[in-house]
Amino acid sequence: MNTKFEIITKSNAETKSLGALLADTLYKGRTKKRALVISLEGDLGAGKTTFTQGFADGLGIKEKVKSPTFVILKIYKIKKMDFIHIDAYRIGTKDFEVLGWKEFIKNPKNIILVEWGDRIKKILPRTAIHIKFKHGASEHERTIKFVV
Ligand code: ADP
Ligand code: MG
Repeated sequence: MNTKFEIITKSNAETKSLGALLADTLYKGRTKKRALVISLEGDLGAGKTTFTQGFADGLGIKEKVKSPTFVILKIYKIKKMDFIHIDAYRIGTKDFEVLGWKEFIKNPKNIILVEWGDRIKKILPRTAIHIKFKHGASEHERTIKFVV
């Protein structure tokens, strides 16, 4: 059975803090057998990139993380790990395979966040964590639901 829980954030700073908190927790708890894969799902402007910025910050990445919509994939080096930020908005399952997806998800030194991960559901590992972002009742409110 999957566990689901929801958190409401009221500003982009709160979404970043949540990302940083999760980065720390998941980094420490990760398996050493394969990559940690997180699928970020939700409409444009729902907070996927904002969350990723906080997450990267929590991992100690100094470089500013931007939306990878145009570059598709960006790799940040941290300690002995690689943080891989991917955007599946414009590319499909086949393109992921060409990018070396299979090798990425096997390698335990990779932490992978995929924006629009629901577009490549078929090739996400079963162990992937799903985080669903939704606009809330007011302009700065977002509902962030975790399925782990
Ligand atoms: P996505 O990557 O899902 O398209 P972004 O993170 O790029 O979304 O954009 C979210 C936008 O919404 C940003 O401009 C951000 O400042 C704004 N925003 C307002 N409130 C929040 C919130 N609670 N969480 C995240 N972003 C928020
Ligand atoms: Mg984005």
